[in-house]
Amino acid sequence: MRRGLLFIVSAPSGTGKTTLVAQLVKTVPELVVSRSYTSRPPRSGEADGVDYNFVDDDRFMALVDAGGLLEWATVFGCRYGTGREETERHRRAGRDVVLVIDVEGARQVREHCPDAIAIFVLPPSFHVLEQRLRRRSGGDVGEPQIRRRLDTARREVAAAEDYAYLVVNDHVDRCVAQLRSIVMAERARTPVVDDAVTGIVAAFRAQDEQG
Ligand code: ADP
Ligand code: 5GP
Repeated sequence: MRRGLLFIVSAPSGTGKTTLVAQLVKTVPELVVSRSYTSRPPRSGEADGVDYNFVDDDRFMALVDAGGLLEWATVFGCRYGTGREETERHRRAGRDVVLVIDVEGARQVREHCPDAIAIFVLPPSFHVLEQRLRRRSGGDVGEPQIRRRLDTARREVAAAEDYAYLVVNDHVDRCVAQLRSIVMAERARTPVVDDAVTGIVAAFRAQDEQG
C-alpha cells in the first residue's frame, strides 16, 4: 500500500477553504481533512472533536513541548496546530490528508515534509473577500475583526507564490472540481501510484521476459 500524500490548503480567512475542503473530501475516496488543535473557544455551532480539538492554552503548549504537533502557529491571537500522530496514522493507512492551515504553518510543514503538496486558494478579489467575511459573520463580528482579517489577507496573499498550485474560489463547484483534479493528478505521479498500477507494469515486464 502506498503512503498517503500530504496536501496543504491555505487561504485568507473568509475565502471559502473550509467550505471547499468539506465538499472535496466528500467526493474523493481515501482523502481526509485533518482536525486541528486550537486554543480558541468554540463558536456557536462548533463541537469539540468535530470542527477542532478545542484545548486550553496549557494543554496546547504541553502538546508543543511533547513534540506532538507537526506545525503550529498563532492566528488572530489564538494557537492552532496539526497533530503529528493523527496525520501519521492516516498516511500509514494509505489515506491522503488535507491540512487546512495558515501560511506560517504551511511554511513549517514544507520545511519538514518537502513532498507536501501546497495549494493556495485565492478569493476572486479583495472586495469579494470583504463581502464573504461580512456575510459569514452575519454582523456578529465587529469592524475591527473584519479589518484585521483583511490586513492579514494582504500579507498572506504575498506568500501565495510559494505554493505549488493557485486556485481561485469563484464558484464552489468549479473550484472543488479543480481541487479534485489536483488530487487525482498527484495520485497518478509515477513514484506515488499504488501497487495495482505498478503491478500492471510488472506483469508487462514478465510477459516481455517470457517472450
Ligand atoms: P474560510 O474557511 O476560508 O474562512 P468559509 O468556508 O467559512 O471560509 O467561507 C466564508 C464564507 O464565504 C461562508 O459564508 C461561505 O458560505 C462563503 N463562500 C465560500 N465559497 C464561496 C463561493 N465560491 N461563492 C460565494 N460564497 C462562498
Ligand atoms: P478559524 O478560527 O476561522 O477556524 O481559523 C482561523 C485560521 O486558522 C484559518 O484561516 C486557518 O488557516 C488557520 N488554522 C486552522 N487550523 C490550523 C492549524 O492546525 N495550523 C495552522 N498553522 N493554522 C490553522
